[in-house]
Amino acid sequence: MTPVISRIVQALEPSATMAMAAKAKELKAAGRTVYDLSLGEPDFTTPQHICQAALEAMEAGHTHYTVASGIPELKQAVVDQYQARHGLQFDPAQVVVANGAKHALHNVFTVLLNPGDEVVIPAPYWVSYAELVKLTGAVPAIVQTRQEDDFKLTPEQFRAAVTDKTKMLLLCSPSNPTGSMYSPEELGALADLAVEHDLLVVSDEIYERLVYPGHTFASFATVRPGLAERTILVHGVSKTYAMTGWRIGWTISPANVAKAMGGLQSQETSNPCSISQFAAVAALTGPQDCVDLMLAEFTKRRDLVTRRIAEIPGLSCAEMGGAFYAFINISEHLGRSYNGVRIDNSTQWCLELLDRQNVATVMGSAFGAEGYARVSFATSMENLEVSFARIEQFVAQ
Ligand code: PMP
Ligand code: GLU
Repeated sequence: MTPVISRIVQALEPSATMAMAAKAKELKAAGRTVYDLSLGEPDFTTPQHICQAALEAMEAGHTHYTVASGIPELKQAVVDQYQARHGLQFDPAQVVVANGAKHALHNVFTVLLNPGDEVVIPAPYWVSYAELVKLTGAVPAIVQTRQEDDFKLTPEQFRAAVTDKTKMLLLCSPSNPTGSMYSPEELGALADLAVEHDLLVVSDEIYERLVYPGHTFASFATVRPGLAERTILVHGVSKTYAMTGWRIGWTISPANVAKAMGGLQSQETSNPCSISQFAAVAALTGPQDCVDLMLAEFTKRRDLVTRRIAEIPGLSCAEMGGAFYAFINISEHLGRSYNGVRIDNSTQWCLELLDRQNVATVMGSAFGAEGYARVSFATSMENLEVSFARIEQFVAQ
């Protein structure tokens, strides 16, 4: 017999970022030189003192199950960091440590959404948001933002998207895939509407520490008094400390939500990796100069990418205030032919670019915005120089 996959998983789109990265790896394994701008993961190795803490954790025997929602040391470190950086006072019981921020988001949606509930998601959005919402039977209410608004949801757009089924708003600032950032005033205006309509807000702040000079980050929970009661903050170590493989992320939420997620996790995964949790404590409480060094490097790359996009005819992007992505408007190049092959959409554009020029990017359609391609600049300057020379050649042809 052929087993029949459940309806809910049949409807699930696999992650396009992971798929493009896998395709690039496949081509590399087959002997091609591929310039890989697909995946958003820092190319740096995890700082030595964090690896050392993992070794020490193993030697100290921290190789067993932990409390399902995470070790007290890590919850405390998370609370201390939000206090120190944003002046927010949380109880460690409000923190749930998960197997990465992606899993943390899955926990949030699972414990809060019922079938038919609507979640307002501004597009372009990170690939996993809409799919993880759909897994619960809830409905993503996608709102198209505009490049001229720096891809930010306006209060008018938010108001128009709210229905009697709306349960929450999902925000990501700095944004994957656009790099744009909401100012405290812009967040405040959205917060006022969330209060008026009694909505929850999930604020994905995983790129908080990757903010470029001239831009300021504000945690959503700080922009109006009393917002914490309706806010779920999502964060993790993957991007800040080059720890994507360690799989540690977390949420800070109202206590009853945290309790429900802890219970869910106790049935689903028991606990996040014990050794990784101790490494994450070292990341949060240890020296932070590694973060500054990585940010300095990302800043140079961001400047290079911004310059090259402006130089190539027909390409444009919004200003990147944070994170390590450029969301390139390629719409002027669609509807044209490359060596006799007509390219009508971002998927064809990205696949042809990979096929002809060996540059891996991700199609805008995967982020809910046709006419764009995302590049990750979490890769070396050399790789970026060559990649953009090839993109330039590709669009010229
Ligand atoms: N949120 C955003 C916006 C991301 O870009 C990522 C990157 N994968 C995640 C969450 C999840 O990160 P992780 O699961 O590695 O903690
Ligand atoms: N967040 C990164 C990206 O968008 C990693 C891959 C993923 O988890 O989607 O490329």
